[in-house]
This record gives sequence, C-alpha cells and structure tokens, in this order.
Amino acid sequence: MVNKPLENYTPEDLLVILDSNVDAIVMVDTTIKKYRTITRKGIFMRFIDETGDYNDLIQKLWFHLNNSSEEINDDYKAFIDYYGEFKGKYSRRLNITLEGEKTPHIIQMTVYPVKDTDKYVFAMDELDDDEYVEEFMTTRKVNTIQNAYLFSMYVDLLKDTTSSISVTEISDETVNSNITYSQWRLMTVNMIWPEDKQQFLTITDPEYLKKNLGFGRTNSFDCMMKNLEGEFIWVKLIFSRAHTPEDEFRFVFMVQNINDNVMELMSTLKKYESLAVRDPLTHLYNHGVIETEIRNAIDVNKKGGQAVSLLMIDLDHFKNINDTYGHSVGDNALKTLGDIFKSSIEGKSASVGRWGGEEFVILLRGMTRDEVLNFAEELRSKVESTNFEDVGRITCSIGISHLREDDTFDEFFDRVDKAMYTSKEFGRNMVTEAFLENDSIVKMVSNF
Ligand code: GH3
Ligand code: MG
Ligand code: MG
Repeated sequence: MVNKPLENYTPEDLLVILDSNVDAIVMVDTTIKKYRTITRKGIFMRFIDETGDYNDLIQKLWFHLNNSSEEINDDYKAFIDYYGEFKGKYSRRLNITLEGEKTPHIIQMTVYPVKDTDKYVFAMDELDDDEYVEEFMTTRKVNTIQNAYLFSMYVDLLKDTTSSISVTEISDETVNSNITYSQWRLMTVNMIWPEDKQQFLTITDPEYLKKNLGFGRTNSFDCMMKNLEGEFIWVKLIFSRAHTPEDEFRFVFMVQNINDNVMELMSTLKKYESLAVRDPLTHLYNHGVIETEIRNAIDVNKKGGQAVSLLMIDLDHFKNINDTYGHSVGDNALKTLGDIFKSSIEGKSASVGRWGGEEFVILLRGMTRDEVLNFAEELRSKVESTNFEDVGRITCSIGISHLREDDTFDEFFDRVDKAMYTSKEFGRNMVTEAFLENDSIVKMVSNF
C-alpha cells in the first residue's frame, strides 16, 4: 500500500497504483495482428482472452453484439481494419453487456500508440457504481447515444477524410481517421436495402452535399440498413453541415436506429388507414371506398376488362330488431352480418362495403350471370339460416345488376337499387335481378 506525502511519490509508486487500479491492460502488435493481455480483472476475465487476434478484439470493442455470441455481418467486418488503426491517443466509452447479463458494464478505454513502434497499449477500466452514479448524466448521454446512434463521424469532403466521433473524445488529435469518405460510402452502400441504394448514393454524393446543404443545415433519409447481425432495420441517415468557411465542406454524419419508432409508426398508420378505409363497426369498406372500387371496376371494364356485377343488400325490418332488443344487440347483428358477407367473398375477385345503416353492397368481378345469381341466392339463404345472438332469425332483400356496355355509375347503381326495392315490394327475403333486356324493368330470381 503506497501512502505518503505527495513529494515522496516515485514513478515506481505510480506504476503500482495504476496497476492495482486499471482493470485491463492489453498490448497489441499490429504487424502480426495479435494482442496479449498484460493484466486483467473483473469483467475482463470473461470479456477478453490472454492472447488473441487483434481483429477479434476490435470487433468485440466496436461491434459488440448485446446478449449474443453471434458473428457480426461481413459488411461490418470490412470496417475492422480501419477501426484498429490509431494515429494518436484515442479514448472512448463503451457499453458492454456480457452473455447472460442484462445491465451493461460501462467501460472507459484509452488507446496509447507506442512511439516509433507498431504497437498499441489498450487501457480499459470498468466504471464502478460510485463513478457510475457520479457520472450519471454523462453515462446516460453515452447510453442514449450508443443505443440510438449506430455510429457517427465527422467528414471533410475536400480532404476526403472521416473521423469517428466518440462522446468522450479527448481532443481532435485523438480520433482515428484512416478511412476516406469515398471508401466509407462504397462500403456502407453494401449494407443498404437494395431499393434504397440509389438514393443513398445520391444523397451521400459529395457534389450533391456541397450543392444542397447550406451551413448549419441538416438533411436526413430513412432507409433500411443491415445491423451487426445482418438483419435489416430502419435507420435514419443524418447529414449536418458544420459552420465552416464558404469553401470548406465539413459534415457530421450519423446513423440513428429508428427501428422501434418506425415499427410503432407503421402500426399507427395502419390503424389510421383502417379508420379512413373501413367502417368501424363491421370493418367492411366504408361507403367512400366501396364506391371508388365500383367506379374503378367500371373503368377497367370499359378498357376491355372483366364483367362487373353489383349486389345491394338491405336487411328486412331491421328497425324492429332495434326496437325489440335494443341498439347494441342490433349493432352485434350488423357485425355478424359483416362477417358473413366477408367470408362469402373469400377467394373471389370481389369487394364488400357498408353503404350505410343496414345496407351493404358487394362488387363481383369476372363472374358469369349464373354465378352471380347463385352467389346472391346462397348469401340470402345463409343469412336466413344463421342464428343471430339474442335475435334469432334475420332476413335480407337483395338486388343484382350487371354492368352494361354504356352504363354510367349512376345507371348501374340505380338498377341495383331498384332491384333491391323490388325484393322488398314483393315480400322481402328475396333476390331480384335487374332485367337484362330492358333498362327499367326488374325481375325476381327467388321468392320464399
Ligand atoms: P325494411 O328495410 O325491411 O323496409 O325495414 P327496416 O326497418 O330495415 O327499414 P328502415 O330503412 O326504415 O330502417 C333501417 C333501420 O336500421 C333504422 C335503424 O334503426 C337501423 N340502423 C341503421 N343503422 C344502424 C346501426 O348502425 N346500428 C343499429 N343498431 N341499427 C341501425
Ligand atoms: Mg335501409
Ligand atoms: Mg332495411
């Protein structure tokens, strides 16, 4: 134990103190790409070996896969050589989660290149609890940045250089800047989702950046990119131009992991889309969407497309159901009917929508007249034979019309409406087809 007045300390004492305090010291020989651990304790007993390949060490420190012993993706391995070279002292803070553990260890690492040799000394320290609490703000910042930003670097377009940015960087001198921006760009494009590659190349193009990004301006691009395991995740690529003299072009570039946000956003958008498209009670298409579907089908037909037929379905005496059993029982019945209609068109080129209240339309494409008539009759019979909860039997009246050559939407729809009302007139629970040879007359198909 060394404890004496300040003026009595010798360099030897300091070595003893440092030796007992630094958790791991690793010596690297870059000519043979090997490392040897001079001293280690604590988590380093599990995290690094006595000796090993230098590339493995760099991979562990830079591309540590949390809770995973998997190999990193080859595209990332290409970076290891660049990250393993240091021009000066270099320091950064790492979060390392050991296999089977949940909370990360906070590691402060400093690399000392040994003057006039091809060797480095890596000094690594785990910050213990007290330091951790004291440095809470810094640590939290580091955590946030390390989790959210996959990597960040400083780019000089004129010199074609990059410098990796570490939150705990000592000074500008200490960053490693071996990879040129052009190299970086061509290596990184391999990790971008195929359909996003072109856009990546466009917005990372030096000429594009010079021309389009003013001082202090930021540009970003969301795309899918391989993570360390080689799976594609959503990232935001962010370019921000530094405030530099006019003829200099320096940027901060960051890759931010936005996968969780995008996934959440997508599911919200899906909900909004569904709200815009679906009727909330039955989840069938709403009026607007089914009308658009009908109009589109008419357009396709006019361009020589397939036959189009329409069914209008109105429930019989539905007001009585509400009056007798209450509105919510009526709502339940409408939901069940929605399910019946939906399953009736399964596997068919057809769409079903709630036209309003207790009226529904079904659009059928590419079916013959007989197929349409049979479909409608089966549907009528299916509704009639269903035992609705609390209500029992419900019937419906159906009208059918087939699109004719010179039909407008209104004519086509008017006929199906009339056909449905004819079913009502003649006693309900019935299918009526708009008569083919004459515009205004309708004829019955079934009557029970
Ligand atoms: P019919 O068509 O056989 O002539 O008789 P109806 O009683 O079905 O006819 P009408 O069009 O007069 O009434 C439709 C009723 O449908 C009115 C309303 O109480 C009910 N209805 C409409 N929309 C809803 C809804 O969203 N929920 C419930 N529970 N009932 C609805
Ligand atoms: Mg009605
Ligand atoms: Mg009705």
